Amino acid sequence: MSELSGDKVAVVTGAASGIGLGIAQRLAADGAKVAIFDLNTAAAEEAAAKISATGATSIGIGVDVSDRDQIQAGIDIVHEVFGPVAILVNNAGMEGFRPFLKITPDVWNRLLAVNLTGTFHCCQLLIPDMMDVGWGRIVNISSSSTHSGQPFMTHYVASKTGVVGLTKSLALEFGEHGITVNTIPPGFIDTPMTRRNEAKGRLGGSVESHAERTPVRRPGRPEDIAAACAFLVSDEAGYITGQILGVNGGRNT
Ligand code: NAD
Repeated sequence: MSELSGDKVAVVTGAASGIGLGIAQRLAADGAKVAIFDLNTAAAEEAAAKISATGATSIGIGVDVSDRDQIQAGIDIVHEVFGPVAILVNNAGMEGFRPFLKITPDVWNRLLAVNLTGTFHCCQLLIPDMMDVGWGRIVNISSSSTHSGQPFMTHYVASKTGVVGLTKSLALEFGEHGITVNTIPPGFIDTPMTRRNEAKGRLGGSVESHAERTPVRRPGRPEDIAAACAFLVSDEAGYITGQILGVNGGRNT
């Protein structure tokens, strides 16, 4: 574990499950006060209670990241309970799987609203906290599908590729304020989302069968993404910004 200096406050979105939960647990274990923002309020509160039971510090708040007012209300609570936010991990996301010709404008808009515009809202509302102290860390969770494209996932891949562009541009605009912005595109991590896709026959085999097609011969775990994230939000990663750190067992090079 790496120690996070100075009692930092972190917001991790979509952290009631899977990768986000792994990141919240890791940052809390490293010493951050972690606010979990998730659509599923009960699961967010439960996750925060479990983290707090380990002696770390966390609160869970129901927030739909596609709703700017809900994000602001969540931030108001974080300010009151913990103080200004230094670390933001935009992880909340929804999957999409549909033939391109069947993607309705409503489906397209909802997916973009959560995966891309949600990231925009959270960055815009929390960067001022970071500018005030001249230090900040943003990590955006994109997707390994941005390396290659993915059939039947046009809306999803477009949203995540937008997150990559947002990351690179923010890094250039806010570097002078001590704020770094990077993206981790996960590749094949064993989470509830991946198991849902497995159950719907979208993976072309079981999660386990994918180990054979993965150079390191195992599926990824939320802890793998959390470890990369913990490094990117540390003091010693201050010269790394605008970068794409693939965590995918070698599936994408
Ligand atoms: P998951 O479904 O297990 O967890 C996603 C969490 O996000 C859930 O707790 C859900 O309630 C929350 N969420 C969904 N919509 C939200 C919203 N509008 N507002 C707030 N919270 C919301 O999924 P996961 O596999 O842990 O995925 C986490 C992130 O990683 C997603 O952005 C996903 O696209 C990305 N990703 C995952 C994989 C993988 O292999 N699992 C691969 C590439 C990218």
